[in-house]
Amino acid sequence: MMTVEDKLHRNRYRVDEQRPHIRIVNPEFCRDECEHQSCLTVCPAGAYTRDEDGIVAVATDGCLECGSCRILCADDGNLVWDWPRGGYGVLYKFG
Ligand code: SF4
Repeated sequence: MMTVEDKLHRNRYRVDEQRPHIRIVNPEFCRDECEHQSCLTVCPAGAYTRDEDGIVAVATDGCLECGSCRILCADDGNLVWDWPRGGYGVLYKFG
């Protein structure tokens, strides 16, 4: 049986090293003031991590562009979220 991880590995990503399309404005805000840190659990790609000091980071190279983190963080305004430039980002493969 195919797992979610198997399906994710079928996708292809073209990473825009010069312009990550998601950026955390203030990582200290995530640690000190965000009450839910939902990005850590809702992201289907597991793009968000928290280190032992409580600092949250995002790695956009496996991002599925679902927009969930953008919505979750909208009230706090601590994410800059944009679509990847043309030619970059996820390429879904279904076969
Ligand atoms: Fe994860 Fe979706 Fe946010 Fe990309 S847009 S980092 S896949 S929650």
